[in-house]
Amino acid sequence: MNKKGQLIVISGFSGAGKGTVVKRLVEDYGYSLSVSATTRAPREGEVDGREYYFKSREEFMNLIDYNGFIEWAMYVDNYYGTPRAFVEKELAAGHNVILEIEVQGAMNIKKQYPDSILIFLTTKSAAVLKERLIGRGTESEAVIAKRMKRALEESEDMEQYEYIVVNDDLDTCVHDVNSIIVANGCKAGENIDFMKAMKEELKAI
Ligand code: 5GP
Repeated sequence: MNKKGQLIVISGFSGAGKGTVVKRLVEDYGYSLSVSATTRAPREGEVDGREYYFKSREEFMNLIDYNGFIEWAMYVDNYYGTPRAFVEKELAAGHNVILEIEVQGAMNIKKQYPDSILIFLTTKSAAVLKERLIGRGTESEAVIAKRMKRALEESEDMEQYEYIVVNDDLDTCVHDVNSIIVANGCKAGENIDFMKAMKEELKAI
């Protein structure tokens, strides 16, 4: 029987290591990762179609008009959206799909896909978050202060998530996130078709 895939939303503080965790989930467990479209300019090293599909505002607006996104949001002056076709195709094929998106998008997904799993990644403390941002060595003091302020705002949204996972040790974090997804897939509510088929088979035997 072809079971539909699960839709997994991962959000978290900037500096909590979302990108690294998601990369490991894809490599270690074979999750499908949705590549978003954005109007922001590529950062150094980013490749069109790999990190994002980089679009002009006009192209992005056209995609909205054609119902090309399952969700989109504005974040710090730029648009970000999850392309519909990939997600629908992967879910129908029974693959588990990860979206790495911010909170407005996450809430939007939950409305449309009530069975989706919402996971928020955090460091174990605010002090560690700040240390990580400083440790990157790429951000000025002013930018770090801005990111910390943003983290305070995002902490209000944390409560809207179903799972909060601390990324202290990377292996543990990746393992924990995968365990949540596996457990969710075993819920009776996720297996109604399977149970029906099993009953029919038992009757027929
Ligand atoms: P960045 O510009 O740093 O790559 O991403 C900024 C924020 O946008 C991050 O919180 C990221 O998770 C979020 N984001 C990336 N893609 C999408 C998307 O398709 N939809 C939404 N709602 N947020 C996204």
